[in-house]
Amino acid sequence: MSTPAQRMVAEQLRPHGVTDERVLQAMASVPREEFLAPRMRRHAYEDRALAIECGQTISQPLVVALMAQAAGPQPDDVALEVGTGSGYAAAVLSRLCRLVITVEREPALAEHASETLRRLGFDNVEVAVGDGSLGWPARAPYGVILVAAAARGVPQALIDQMADGGRMVIPVAMSPEEPQDLRVYMRQGTEVTYRSLFPVLFVPLRTG
Ligand code: SAH
Repeated sequence: MSTPAQRMVAEQLRPHGVTDERVLQAMASVPREEFLAPRMRRHAYEDRALAIECGQTISQPLVVALMAQAAGPQPDDVALEVGTGSGYAAAVLSRLCRLVITVEREPALAEHASETLRRLGFDNVEVAVGDGSLGWPARAPYGVILVAAAARGVPQALIDQMADGGRMVIPVAMSPEEPQDLRVYMRQGTEVTYRSLFPVLFVPLRTG
């Protein structure tokens, strides 16, 4: 017998470039339906983004998995997520890192996500309310940063909060009309380089 999440791994993730066994295991172990409103739960394992509260979305599982894989999370890493939304990606990340700080600017979303994470026992996730484009300096530096909303340009505060050897995955908006460029940034000492992954469609990162 396989669970819906295990079938999602076999059908949506493995055939589409997710090869990291730790990431696959994390994706198989997090019940996505728990992060959705009751009327959306029957769609939980569809291969797409879904609506949550406040006009926001929970990302497509494949995108969550590919972002996590690109960030190369290590068991000892402290991770920062910008854009908690439902809390789903934070839950996945919490299986891959020591501690996850996730920042959400909508207090209602943050509160709901925090409740869900606590109820399901994701004890190594801290939900913070604020403008995530400023990062979360109190816990910096971060081995992994995942940004779940699209920025025009990469916020300097996030670059500054990357650990030496750290990785950041972030959708960068070129123009409002075009898909965003999902990038992975890498820091080595003071040098920061990036490579492009693939085009994506995220909600905008609302700064200020
Ligand atoms: N990772 C989420 C999906 C996030 S959708 C999940 O797994 O469900 C993007 C989220 O980013 C939204 O909830 C939006 O409110 C939030 N957001 C937008 N701008 C932000 C900012 N500057 N700081 C923190 N959160 C922000």
